[in-house]
Amino acid sequence: MGFLLQALSEAKIAIDRIRTVAFTHTHLDHIHGLILPDGRDGFPQLVRLLVPRPELDMFRSEARLSRFHDRAQPLDPGQRLSASIEAIAIPGHEIGHTCFRVTSGGETLLIWGDLVHVPSLQFDRPEVAWEFDADQEQARAGRLQILVLAADNAYFVAGAHLDSPGVGRISRAETGFRFEPL
Ligand SMILES: [Zn+2]
Repeated sequence: MGFLLQALSEAKIAIDRIRTVAFTHTHLDHIHGLILPDGRDGFPQLVRLLVPRPELDMFRSEARLSRFHDRAQPLDPGQRLSASIEAIAIPGHEIGHTCFRVTSGGETLLIWGDLVHVPSLQFDRPEVAWEFDADQEQARAGRLQILVLAADNAYFVAGAHLDSPGVGRISRAETGFRFEPL
């Protein structure tokens, strides 16, 4: 939401080294970071955009992003983006909603997009869905599945709508789960 480049700079990641961007889904708050507030490209060296296959048409219907449309490539469940990054499809919040599992140095980070929107509610009660979930039943089941996966394997998780810092670990609680921020 406007702080992407600042966050990358803090992480000492140079934007001109970024040639691939992969989307968890195509909701507007997740894709318009391609364009800076002044209209320039956020990633000047961008070669390819990986878009969950079921959402390619949604991405290509976004007129403001038309200059990126021909760089979009379909992203499929289980696809490896590199030796250490794997796409895991968790449809529900949106039809192509995808998590990315990153393994490095014996640790695993799950970048889970919009699996959880309201941390104060949904860790304790993963069955709570909301209006912006395209398929609420599917979203509930997927959230539970991923929370179990993260808790049982001691994965780190990163989510778009978690409170700052949006990275931490998941543990099981008496009812539901608990988020332990880093
Ligand atoms: Zn979303």
